[in-house]
Amino acid sequence: LADLGSRLRGALSSVESGDEKEIQNMVKDICSALLETDVNIKLVARLRDNIKEKIKTQINDNEGGSNKRKKLQKIVFDELCALVDSHEEPPKPKKLSHRQQTTRGAKGGAKATKVTSDSHIIMLVGLQGAGKTTSATKLALYYKKRGFKIGLVCADTFRAGAFDQLKQNAIKSGIPYYGSYVETDPVKVAHDGVQKFKQEKFDIIIVDTSGRHKQEQSLFNEMIQISKMIQPTQTIMVMDGSIGQAAESQAKAFKESSDFGSIILTKMDGHAKGGGAISAVAATRTPIVFIGTGEHVGDLDVFKPSSFVSKLLGIGDIQSLIEHVQSLNLQDDESHKKTMENFKEGKFTLRDFQTQMNNFMKMGPLTNIASMIPGMSNIMSQVGEEETSSKIKNMIYIMDSMTTKELDSDGRIFIDEPERIVRVARGAGCAVVEVEMVLQQQRLMSSMAASAKTMNAGQGPQAPGM
Ligand code: GDP
Ligand code: MG
Repeated sequence: LADLGSRLRGALSSVESGDEKEIQNMVKDICSALLETDVNIKLVARLRDNIKEKIKTQINDNEGGSNKRKKLQKIVFDELCALVDSHEEPPKPKKLSHRQQTTRGAKGGAKATKVTSDSHIIMLVGLQGAGKTTSATKLALYYKKRGFKIGLVCADTFRAGAFDQLKQNAIKSGIPYYGSYVETDPVKVAHDGVQKFKQEKFDIIIVDTSGRHKQEQSLFNEMIQISKMIQPTQTIMVMDGSIGQAAESQAKAFKESSDFGSIILTKMDGHAKGGGAISAVAATRTPIVFIGTGEHVGDLDVFKPSSFVSKLLGIGDIQSLIEHVQSLNLQDDESHKKTMENFKEGKFTLRDFQTQMNNFMKMGPLTNIASMIPGMSNIMSQVGEEETSSKIKNMIYIMDSMTTKELDSDGRIFIDEPERIVRVARGAGCAVVEVEMVLQQQRLMSSMAASAKTMNAGQGPQAPGM
């Protein structure tokens, strides 16, 4: 949807003086951009009327151009949010350990008995090729990174090779999985897998199901039976985001048989038809929970109407960035704590540098992070995701090749004994000059830490390198 974004930004920034003609053109441009990505025509008409109405009541003719532009941006922003917001909250998985604590703490009150200590079961449904199996692993990794104990069940016995695909994905991401090469009944496999992970006290169990090329009754019957058997906490429909207007009938057909409560839209990278799926979702009043933005396991974005629209309009999304960093529990991480303490004291060792870089990689694909920071996505698109992340990985390899003594030092040890640099370079399989660059970077941060201490004496730590 990058194209839609640039069209919308173009429309907004074309307003200079804010006279009537300009504003009319802006509204027209926004509507045609939305129609071209296949947003439903009725929804676009409603959006246009709402925008016009708000302009009439909220914008004063005598206002200056820049003030008008700000107000216009806000009006368009709000209307776009309304377009993609279902106003429904999907269930959020909780860790079993937390839930059990709640039960104990409440001493058997009426409500407490309702708190189950059962695993959160997610069942994925959708047509063949929609991206269920890929999304299953993406989702599993997303929750694993957030500290959930999670398992994958392959209940696709329809397509040959389905179990192998899930298994390979799961192994790559280090996620426990369940499936069968011999059992042909998907209901039985789903049941057995869920039972196994339930007994092992998994927080979340994701059940991947089979699809068919078309919406057909045999598929719907299968979904109904599996659902009856495993009683999912949450059923998510996985929908190919690039199918345009066809999304609506697909969503409706699945809604009848498997009453899903939320949606993952896949393939939102590259294709220009995402608007069709978005409006189908809007029509069924079902929240989109994630969007798939690529074939790699990290290409999954939490869908929040306001951050989605922020990104579309290129206005950055600091709130999401903060939530994202907090959700990774970095504060609980011992090494992170130590780094913060060191920084407060004006120190920044090589080990602190290593911690920082590791945390940075944990945050997920850099372009996702960059898109949350205003102006950053442009810079990133010039350098490129691959290049940036491979540079960071290289730095991590270099620091992994250092000894404990070296890591806990302020780096001067390398100046005193330069043969150490050669050894590290050999260990990391890189050039001496690359090690020198890491050392130089760390020296820079260390001197920043030292000066931050003098400047902010008593003001608490700040995140180095961010
Ligand atoms: P399933 O039949 O529903 O399980 O679909 P799969 O998970 O096997 O995916 C079908 C194809 O779509 C595979 O080639 C995936 O790599 C691809 N795919 C899935 N999600 C995305 C996405 O978000 N972006 C892109 N570009 N490709 C995707
Ligand atoms: Mg599949």
